[in-house]
Parts: sequence; structure tokens; C-alpha cells
Amino acid sequence: MIKLFNTLSKKIEEFSPIHADSMQVGLYACGPTVYDYTHIGHLRKYVMDDVLVRVLRNASYEVKHVQNITDVGHLVSDDDEGEDKMEKGARKYGKTAWELAQQFENYFFYSMDKMNVLRPTLSCRATEHIQSQLDLVLDLEKKGFTYIIEKDGVYFDTSKLEKYGELSGHDPRFAPREARIEEIEGKRNPSDFALWKFEKAGENRQMVWPSPWHPRSFPGWHVECSAMSIEHLGPQIDIHTGGIDHIAVHHANEIAQSETYTEKKPFVKYWVHHNFLRVDGEKMSKSLNNFYTIDDIIKKGFSPEALRLLFLNSHYRSEQNFTFASLEASQNAWQKLLQIYFALKKSPRDFSDEQDDENEISQKFTNDFLTAVENDLNTSEALAVLWQMLKNTSLTNSQKYRLLLDFDRILGLGLIATKESNLLLKPNQELQVSDLPEKLQKLFAEREEARLDKDYAKADQIRLEFAKAGYQLVDLNGSVIIKTQPQN
Ligand code: AMP
Ligand code: ZN
Repeated sequence: MIKLFNTLSKKIEEFSPIHADSMQVGLYACGPTVYDYTHIGHLRKYVMDDVLVRVLRNASYEVKHVQNITDVGHLVSDDDEGEDKMEKGARKYGKTAWELAQQFENYFFYSMDKMNVLRPTLSCRATEHIQSQLDLVLDLEKKGFTYIIEKDGVYFDTSKLEKYGELSGHDPRFAPREARIEEIEGKRNPSDFALWKFEKAGENRQMVWPSPWHPRSFPGWHVECSAMSIEHLGPQIDIHTGGIDHIAVHHANEIAQSETYTEKKPFVKYWVHHNFLRVDGEKMSKSLNNFYTIDDIIKKGFSPEALRLLFLNSHYRSEQNFTFASLEASQNAWQKLLQIYFALKKSPRDFSDEQDDENEISQKFTNDFLTAVENDLNTSEALAVLWQMLKNTSLTNSQKYRLLLDFDRILGLGLIATKESNLLLKPNQELQVSDLPEKLQKLFAEREEARLDKDYAKADQIRLEFAKAGYQLVDLNGSVIIKTQPQN
């Protein structure tokens, strides 16, 4: 039984598709705005979406995973004000908005492939769904839910709804966004939002389309997701994902538009929201110089799989703080896992237990693993089960090998496709001080000093820290040999 925390009910609920007895699941994921490089915060969000898809498929659901590409209409304020991120990005990079969209869409999928994120069943661009977005807005207009602000756009009148903003647990018409009404002259309620925007005088936008209201206009960001999800998944969706930043506005607006348009409730049965990744305790931003792409991670000598493992070690609903020290620890764990995997792969296969699927211990590990991942994607607990399984002394090597590959079909570390050359260090491999990560080099020097001072307690304590990081220190005839850990 898969359980998910639903932002709508604020509870963990048992998952069952919106169409009872169906094994088909429609999942819509808010995709990237392709105005700049995909960063590690995005990677975390889409890795966790990927785990969700894998968990559902493992439970025999047929998942249609639709993910959009926002290539127009997302304004820098995340609201109805400011420049379009695409037009701004085009100026920054000296490209056309269209070239920019293509470049960063390519970079997004390149990053996803590196992270072993399965491609969505369907990826759809907002600029290729202009007509369906227009149809939706025309329908809302016909139903009397819109008004026009001259020289600005077509707005949704949220006061016409019985309920608005349920997702965020409060009514955003009154709090905490009172300031919003001041932002745009002519807005009737603070929570009203743009469905369609008009080019401003002198703006000279690159991405514009004619509409009944203005010859040079473009869709609002929220309407993209409503129109594309309805077109590709129907009026009601099983699961919709996005970052927590989308709850109060973007998703509240999607619900308002979609339910008014289709006249069906609920638009989405389970709303799944991912918490944010911070870097060294700060919000990621180019100006703070803490904005990392997958290429930055690789250039610093880390494997994408180590980053994936780091993400899996935290819960998607908790904020995660990225540091290079934590990535280093994760890289060591990944190397250890690879060592074990290749050793198991090479060890002689015991065919007698290949048929022994009912083996009690192996069944128990499978159950524990599935219980963890199916419990609102508790990936860190699932990893704990994996390590316990590898340490278990009653299982044979071939049983462990099979379980490891089974678990990895959900974790998506891609063990089966890894080559032994990915193994940077072999068990018991002797190393020089300069081979160690910088932090350990310093610690090694500290230990040498402690040894000279005959402070053996401190030397032993530092040896323990090395062991935790995956290294052995062997004191031999007055000198120290540094080695990787022995096999398991
Ligand atoms: P954007 O490209 O800004 O439209 O974001 C695409 C998705 O990534 C959205 O669901 C965001 O909520 C999510 N996202 C953006 N930044 C981060 C971050 N630092 N950590 C986690 N998710 C993020
Ligand atoms: Zn969206």
C-alpha cells in the first residue's frame, strides 16, 4: 500500500487512483522554466519525482508522467509583475528567447540523464500549446470569471469562487499577501491573477501571439499547467508534483482555473510538494556563488550517483542543506556500494538459491524495503534496509546481489549499468596523503603531531574518524600506512 502526504488534506493518505479499480495513474509534474542552467535544487526535486514514479510502477501502476517545459510567461516576480524570465535570460545570454529555451531544455534533460532520472512519458512545451491555453481562458471569460485590466492582461476574479487557496490552508485573498493588490492597478482582489498578459508599450517582446484581447500577447504561467495537464491527462489527475514554493500561488491558481473550466472536482487527488535544497545554509543564487550545476559537481570529482545518494538520504518533505562535506561522505558511501556490488557480481552464483524466492530472510528485507519507500517515500529508511541487507550473514552472495539490483530499480542509482572503472578506489588500496580529501589531509597532519606528542588518545580518535570516512590507518614501524577499507 503506497502512502503519500497530500498537501490538500495535510495528511498521509493511502494511495488509490482517482478512477477506482484502474491501474492507470496520471501524474503531472511542474517542469523547469528554461531560462538558465538546471541547478542541484532542481536535481533534487526531479530525482524525488523519479523515485515516486518508480515506486508506483513497481506496484504495477501504469504511470503516464507528463512534465511541462515552461518556455514562456513565467515572470521574474513569480507573480503577475516583472519581465518574462525568458526575455530577460535571452538578453543576458545574447540569444533569442527561442534559442535560449532550446539550449536550457537540452541542458535540463542532459542533467536528468546524468542523474538517472527516467524521461517523462510526455514532455510538453507551453509555446506549443498556445491554442489550448487560449481556449481555456476564453471559456473562463464566457463563464464570467475574468476581467480585463487595460494595457495589462486578462485576470481571474477569485472572489467569484466559493473557495480559493485551500491548498495553502488559508485564504490568500486576505493574508499574507495584502500588498499584492497595490502591485497592479485595477486588480479587484489581492489573489486575482493573470491568465493572459499583453505586451507593454515599447517592450518589443520576442514571444507574442495574437489573441481576441490584444494582437501581441502571451499566456500567464499558471494557465500553462492547467491547459497542458487537462489536454494530456484529462480533467482529473491522480498526482501533481511541484516545489513548496508553488503551493500558495501557482497551484492554488491551477486549481481555480482547472476546476472552473472542467467543472469537475477535485482537479488533483494527491498534491505532492517537495521541500527546498539550500547550499551551506543559504538559498541558492548566482550572486552568492553557491549555484551548482551537475557539471560543477562532476568537475569537482564527484559522481552524479553520489549526489543522488545524498538526496535519497533525506526526506523529500524536509529541507536539505547541501555541503561539499556531505557530498564527500556520500561519495565514500557510493564507492563502498560499488565495491560490494562488483564483489557480489563476481562471486560464484549459487543456482540452488536462485529459485528460492520464498526465502524468509530475503523476503523480509524486500518487505522492509518496500514498506519504507511506499511510506511517503521514506528513502533514507530504505537505504538503511539496503545496508543492513548487505551486512546480513545468513543471505548468500547471489541473494544479496539480486536484492541489491531489485532495490536499485526503485532507488535508481543505476548499479546495473555501472562499469568497474567507476570504482575510484579498490578495497585495501594503499594511498598517499595527497590522495586524501583536503579535510582528511589536515586531520592526518593533526594526527602526526599528536603521535609526536605521544597523545595516543587523540591519535586513536582521529583514526576512528578516518574509519568513518572509509579509510584505515595502519601504524607500522613508526610510520603510517593509509589504506582504503578492506572488503566488507
Ligand atoms: P523553476 O525552473 O524555477 O520553474 O523550478 C522547477 C521546479 O524546481 C519547481 O518545482 C521548483 O519548486 C523546483 N525548485 C527550484 N529551486 C529549487 C531548490 N533550490 N530546491 C528544490 N526544488 C527547487
Ligand atoms: Zn506548473
